[in-house]
Amino acid sequence: LEKVPSDIEIAMAQTPKPVAELAAEIGIHPDELELYGKYKAKVELSVIDRLAHRKNGKYVVISGITPTPLGEGKSTTTIGLAQAMGAHLNRPAYACVRQPSQGPTFGIKGGAAGGGYSQVIPMDEFNLHLTGDIHAVSAANNLVAAALDARMFHEATQSDKAFYGRLVPAKKGKREFAPLMLKRLKKLGIDKTNPDDLTPEEINRFARLDVDPETITWNRVVDVNDRFLRKITVGQGTTEQGHTRETGFDISVASECMAVLALSNSLADMRERLGNMVVATSKRGEPITADDLGVGGALAVLMKDAIKPNLMQTLEGTPVFVHAGPFANIAHGNSSILADRVALKLAGTEEGDDVSRQGYVLTEAGFGADMGMEKFCNIKCRTSGLNPDATVIVATTRALKMHGGGPDVTPGKAIPDVYTQENLDMLREGCKNLGKHIANAKKFGLKVIVAVNQFSSDTEAELQLVRECALQAGADAAVISNHWAKGGAGAKALAEALVEVCERGESEFKLLYPAEASLEDKITTISKEIYGADGIELSELARKQLETYTAQGYAHLPICMAKTQYSFSHDPKLKGVPTGFTIPIRAIRLSAGAGFLYPILGDMQTMPGLGTRPGFWEVGLDETGKVVGLF
Ligand code: ADP
Repeated sequence: LEKVPSDIEIAMAQTPKPVAELAAEIGIHPDELELYGKYKAKVELSVIDRLAHRKNGKYVVISGITPTPLGEGKSTTTIGLAQAMGAHLNRPAYACVRQPSQGPTFGIKGGAAGGGYSQVIPMDEFNLHLTGDIHAVSAANNLVAAALDARMFHEATQSDKAFYGRLVPAKKGKREFAPLMLKRLKKLGIDKTNPDDLTPEEINRFARLDVDPETITWNRVVDVNDRFLRKITVGQGTTEQGHTRETGFDISVASECMAVLALSNSLADMRERLGNMVVATSKRGEPITADDLGVGGALAVLMKDAIKPNLMQTLEGTPVFVHAGPFANIAHGNSSILADRVALKLAGTEEGDDVSRQGYVLTEAGFGADMGMEKFCNIKCRTSGLNPDATVIVATTRALKMHGGGPDVTPGKAIPDVYTQENLDMLREGCKNLGKHIANAKKFGLKVIVAVNQFSSDTEAELQLVRECALQAGADAAVISNHWAKGGAGAKALAEALVEVCERGESEFKLLYPAEASLEDKITTISKEIYGADGIELSELARKQLETYTAQGYAHLPICMAKTQYSFSHDPKLKGVPTGFTIPIRAIRLSAGAGFLYPILGDMQTMPGLGTRPGFWEVGLDETGKVVGLF
């Protein structure tokens, strides 16, 4: 067997082309490009308007079977497929992936830039900082937290009159409301524009947000696996006069600001969503938003550059958009709508173009198809109005054998022998997991192409068995692909099959549930149809929260299930295709700005921790200043 070097060795051995050259190749004008060094650039959203007359390229979501903790190669396949199309089939092809969080990068080994000969480069820049979008998200998130705590402090320590006087101070002898204050007055039904005209009752209602501290859902964030920040007490300085409160930190990519970045359709839409984020409920029962705190405009300013997608390249010099990075278990796990929109126009065709010019956008959805793909359809596409054409479901013999009864695999530990030796019975049993994901994708009307991601220890009989099982389960095509070891050339057959299936006719994309269904019905539909559950069981708290959110006017929002990625069910131990279970909903949270509600199943962590031997031990610079040991 040929030896494939480590991911970072392969990535560092390839010199990327200047990103300006790549941009010119794909038809981005120089004034639409903002360079961040030589190999990264932001792309202006105006490209979407300039190319509005084009018919969008084909839209394909890359998803997978229920994974092992090692990952089954979705990123690698997304990049390999883009390389195959762009560099071997001569088709315009764009990979759209998420920006990785620095937390897992230094925490556990394992990259998000793909792997082997299918990677995004420069991989060190891809994995760390990029163009600062995650930093912007953290800054915005933490401004909201600071605004909230300071507001509560000032309200608590001043009389109505004094507080109002400072909130609406006189400038040159005249008091004027800030624009966001006028918005709040309108929300409260107070039809006055002169601060001196408000009655004492109106002053109280307008100026006092009266946050119920028990209802605060807003945490601070940092992009580090800092487990000691999971629960903290703020306000311990003497200057805060005893106004302490227990709160916590989440990892930055779990911030609602990140979900907003991923789900915005334009700059104006992002501004609107940031302002609508709900941080708590008032003692009067009304939701308190970022705009009520007065920070909506400032948040948009902090994130005005982050909203532009980042252009990078694959090892074979084809384009990749890297944009937004919400987690796929506690958030919706998909890269940005705007990156997809830019790519769909660049990949699009104009009147008179030959069908062979039809380009492809390959966008990755996190974790198994029950998580990333379901949310791609029901949340991302519902929000964008875009119609996907197909899904590629990535499968490995390793994960399928695990679903067929094989032992657990653990990162950093040796892989049990059964995964590197032929075992057709175990594999056949495990293929039921793949079959259920295929059936689920069909419920959305998507065409399904199964990519069997080949490992060097796989036997021909095993690879063929997975193909056959996939076709029997209703896949439109199933192809063995060796892009990890061979780059784009190894995924040529997969790319050809994808084109062939997409050109056979239009997909009949449909959503799983209508927006008008009740929140409980939506959660039940996902649980039964996608997970195979008998039903759901709402805790008393969850039921109360559903009532509150419905009363507050949020019942039209889609659902983002916060569930383990290691099983169709809520229990990571239940492999294969579990049946006879009921989904317990512990609590339900609201992301009013991003535009979804997320039911929490079991104990989902929103701040990862560092283990005894974190990945950072290996990371450093060599004598020439090159990054080593990243992966
Ligand atoms: P996912 O996106 O599904 O989490 P990745 O594409 O990030 O998975 O791959 C996870 C890890 O597995 C990476 O380190 C990658 O290099 C490795 N990998 C992927 N495909 C293969 C393969 N066919 N053979 C060997 N290693 C692979």
